[in-house]
Amino acid sequence: MSQLSRRRFITTVTKGTASIAILGVAACSGDSGSGTSTTVTAPTSPSTTTPPPSTTTTTATLSATAASTTAAPLGEAAFAWERVNLGNVSAYILERSGEAVLVDTGLGGSAGDIEEALGRLGLAWGNLGHIILTHRHGDHVGSIDAVMAAAPDATGYIGEGDAAAVAAPRPLTILNGGDAVFDLDIIATPGHTPGSISVFDPIGRVLVSGDAVLGGGEPGSVAGASPRFSQDMVAADQSVIALAPLQPSAILPGHGEPVTVDAATKLAALAASL
Ligand SMILES: [Zn+2]
Repeated sequence: MSQLSRRRFITTVTKGTASIAILGVAACSGDSGSGTSTTVTAPTSPSTTTPPPSTTTTTATLSATAASTTAAPLGEAAFAWERVNLGNVSAYILERSGEAVLVDTGLGGSAGDIEEALGRLGLAWGNLGHIILTHRHGDHVGSIDAVMAAAPDATGYIGEGDAAAVAAPRPLTILNGGDAVFDLDIIATPGHTPGSISVFDPIGRVLVSGDAVLGGGEPGSVAGASPRFSQDMVAADQSVIALAPLQPSAILPGHGEPVTVDAATKLAALAASL
């Protein structure tokens, strides 16, 4: 089954109104007409940057052809994400206006796959400015050496509680909950490891959850951190509960499939079950 591995978000903010066009492309499908897209309009106040999804209404369905013409009129900021599917684990690239953030690096030997994923966005190593590591484990930090070598100007980041456990060729910048990197919100999600962090893009409403929230056994479902591989399940459950109010439109987990349908509802249900 083909997986939706790429979505492009185009956001226009005008007086009191945020219009978010979500244009999806089924990357592995030979059927060019299979992509779906929606335009979502929601009210927002000048002081609120994240309109609640509960007030959104689907107003239009566009063709897949429209997804490939992403020229943004003045005042629009393009946002896209790309999965680096490494088999057991995924890294993700978040892109805004030609600048890229890599979240996690996979096991050692993953730099080639990351380079290919950059290419699918029309980008190269030179566009990579930030590398955020969600936590210390080798399947997430394993290619930090090669990635930093390929992107010599990129800054690396890791959560404070995991920083001492990771060796990188350049010093890593320490992150805590409430920090921001390239307008991405950093959320402390301890439990899987003490320094686990998640990354939330408030424009695309995409949550890169590391191993704090996983893709469930059924593709499209969500699960909490693995009890087998997590250090503190009480903290891990609290982290899931803390993420639910973000109401993400997509959850991009370190393991399992991205959740792009009813992500907020599924995350809320998971949090309520803990
Ligand atoms: Zn892990």
